[in-house]
Amino acid sequence: MAKVKLHLSNDTEEIWGFKCPACGRTHQFWTKKDGKPWWSFNGDVENPTVHPSVAVTMHDGFCHFFIKDGKMQFLNDCTHRLAGNTVEMENI
Ligand SMILES: [Zn+2]
Repeated sequence: MAKVKLHLSNDTEEIWGFKCPACGRTHQFWTKKDGKPWWSFNGDVENPTVHPSVAVTMHDGFCHFFIKDGKMQFLNDCTHRLAGNTVEMENI
């Protein structure tokens, strides 16, 4: 089962989406933005590893994590209950 899914791919952008168990919504990372490489991704949709960390600012909070071997490592500056925890990513 895939944990990340390609949302958009064209000449200038490549965007991947995944479900965040902490926020209960979809977050994204870019492997290509403005035609240039952006986050690095190991290409494994079942056990994704992405570098560097991903930070998401929402109107009601902040979510910051590493994606490694299909898990999300939430950092301590998250405003949600999973701050400081590592959890398995959900299948999408
Ligand atoms: Zn989140």
